[in-house]
Parts: sequence; C-alpha cells; structure tokens
Amino acid sequence: MTSSVSTTGWRDRHSGAILPAVGRPQRLLVRGSGAKVWDEEGTEYLDLLAGIAVNALGHAHPAFVDAVSKQVGTLGQISNYFASEPQIALAQRLIGIAGAPAGSSVYFCNSGAEANEAALKMARRVAGGTRSKIVAIEGAFHGRTMGALALTAKEAYRTPFEPGVPGVVHVPFGDVEALRAEVDETCAAVFVEPIQGEGGVRNHPAGYLRTARELTSAAGALLILDEVQTGIGRCGTWFAFQDPAIGEGIVPDIVTSAKGLGGGLPIGAAITFGPENTGLLVPGQHGSTYSGNPVMTAAGNAVLDVIEEEGLLEHARELGAWLESALVKIDGVIAVSGAGLLRSFELAAGNAKAVSEAALEAGFIVNPVTGSRIRLAPPLTISQEELGTFLEALPGVLETAAA
Ligand SMILES: *Cc1c(COP(=O)(O)O)cnc(C)c1O
Repeated sequence: MTSSVSTTGWRDRHSGAILPAVGRPQRLLVRGSGAKVWDEEGTEYLDLLAGIAVNALGHAHPAFVDAVSKQVGTLGQISNYFASEPQIALAQRLIGIAGAPAGSSVYFCNSGAEANEAALKMARRVAGGTRSKIVAIEGAFHGRTMGALALTAKEAYRTPFEPGVPGVVHVPFGDVEALRAEVDETCAAVFVEPIQGEGGVRNHPAGYLRTARELTSAAGALLILDEVQTGIGRCGTWFAFQDPAIGEGIVPDIVTSAKGLGGGLPIGAAITFGPENTGLLVPGQHGSTYSGNPVMTAAGNAVLDVIEEEGLLEHARELGAWLESALVKIDGVIAVSGAGLLRSFELAAGNAKAVSEAALEAGFIVNPVTGSRIRLAPPLTISQEELGTFLEALPGVLETAAA
C-alpha cells in the first residue's frame, strides 16, 4: 500500500469488500468542514443529514478535533478496571443536563443499540425479574442488535431473524387505549422515542407521553425514553422530553443516548434516574470493554462544551422554527413535523427517494426517511444562510424529481 490511497473504481471496490447488507453508498466522501462535505471529485455538498443526526458540531469542529486529539495522545483505552476524568465528568454532566435526581447514574457503551440493550437488561430486572412483557410502539426504531431489534417495529428488519428476544409487544402509534390495555402488572417497561426518528420524524399526539408516564408509574413499570436521535440538543433542548411541548413535564426512569453525544465518534449512554433504577443491575451484570473509553467521553465533553458555548440549544430551536415556517410555504410540501433541527416534510408527490437523489445532484444531502417524507437533521452549528440555500433550491429539486 502507498500512502496516497487511490479512489478509482471505488464503487466496485466497495461492493467487492463491504457486506452488501448495509446498502449501496451514493458518493465517496473525502473531507468535511462545518456543514459541508466534499466527494472524491471535489464536488461540495451541504450536509443536512450529519451522519444520521450525529455530527452535532458539524465536521471537523476545531474544539472537537483538539479535545479528541489531545485525549488520544494522552490516554486512550483503559477498561472498567480503571477510571478516567473524562468518563466521570461526562457522566456527571449527563446527569446534570438530564435533570436527573440524586442517585442517578450513567452506563456508557458504543452505540444507540447498545444503550437500549442495557436498558432492556434493566427492564428484565424490574420487580426482581418477575415481569416479562416489554411494550414498544409501532413505527419505533431502537436498533439492530437482537434485543434492540425485538423492540424495533419494522417487520422487514425483524422477521428474517426470528426467533427474536421474547416478550415484546408493539402497540399502535398514538393509541392511548392500546397502551392502557398492555401496561399492566406483567409489564416491565415501555420504550418510547419522544419523537419517532426512523419512523418518519413523527410527533406523538398531545397527552401521549404523559399518559405513558401515568400508566407505567401506576403499574410499577419503567418508562424508558430512547433519545438516541432526539437528544443532545437535536430538538432544541438537551433532551427532547425536557421541551414541555414534547415531554409534558414527565420524568422518565431511563433515558438512552448516542448519535449526537459523540459528535461523530461512537458512544452511547443509558442514564438511570434515581437510586431505584440505578440499582436494577448489580455489579457483574453488565459491562463492555470500551465502556467510558477516555477518547469517546472526551469527545462527548467537547460536544457538550460547544453546545453550551455557542448557544446551540437556542440556535436549534430558533432555526428549526424558521425552517418549519419556510418549508410549509413551499409548493408540494404538505406537512412538516419534528422539533428543533430534527425535521421531516411530507411530499404531496410521495416521491421521497427521487427528491433525495435530485437534492444530491444539486449539492444537498437529505434523507428519504419514508417513501413520502424527507428528513433533515443538519449539524446544530448550521447557519440560517446555509439552510437558506437549500430552501431556495428546493422548488427546483422537487420539479426535477417529478420530471
Ligand atoms: C439510530 C437509533 C438507534 C440505534 O443506534 P445505533 O448507534 O445505530 O445502534 C436507536 N434508537 C434510535 C431512536 C435511533 O435513532
């Protein structure tokens, strides 16, 4: 191998070497800066997907690069046999920003799926391990590992791998009575995304999360909020449930996080609220080689620092509201959902895939999250001017896609 890797024939090399299960990529990207990325031909794109709602600070933010570089040059991996300052600091900060009470704790892992696996194991220990039922919601996405997959609603993801983890029941989206019927004294936990991400960026109807909290509390079951996509400022508050319009004042038992938390590096977290939930797993019952890895937790601390220093929660709220108001005025857009800078818009023509392809050709990375909806999850650092270039181009993109 030479030091300058040739990118010629990358499509064939990709398909000849990467497991086809993950799908075919659209471009070979070589560099990113802020909200922009460049492919191997030098073409520039505005990144309105951010690695699927991950790059909260955009690409190569100087403070992030600096913090990660310093940490990897100081102390990399140590295992849970040892502690590190970035690990402890990030856990304390997560408890703080989540508004979790005394006796709360954080379990670190490497991804969103793993954070949900940890929460699932906690759910298995509710009432001394005597409850087998776990409730999830149709349209939910909680990850692809076997436990998280059992919670994920989409049959195409799940059925080829049956038998799956037993005990999971899916209830129809937004249906309070269906939830009421399942949340009984055999139920260990309800898993909910405050806004369904992969399900199309769908907001629950008003009152749903509060009812879920009331029902789980009454039944002695956990309310587990999957904030892997919605958390870390994405929706304009640290966690989406803290927005009164979304969370309606509820306090969850467990919150799972990942994606934005690492700002581009792989880290996940399960936050247990209060001593009872913290005590569900006892020493020896869970762990991971990389749990709390100093480099990943340094990345997490840098993400939180920059969100604070640059006022990105407020920025996400204001820019998100502006984006929504601009999108609804565009011909061919029939609805806009989400919160902050996690948004999707529904296309009258129902041609999300064609629109995303036309957008890419025009220099914008967007995601056809369903057949008829386009998801936008740009870096939280994106400027109004940058978003404006997309809004200006969108009518033309819709026209091209319809042709
Ligand atoms: C992406 C996502 C996951 C899975 O995270 P991975 O890091 O891909 O394992 C779980 N839950 C939600 C809500 C997600 O958006």
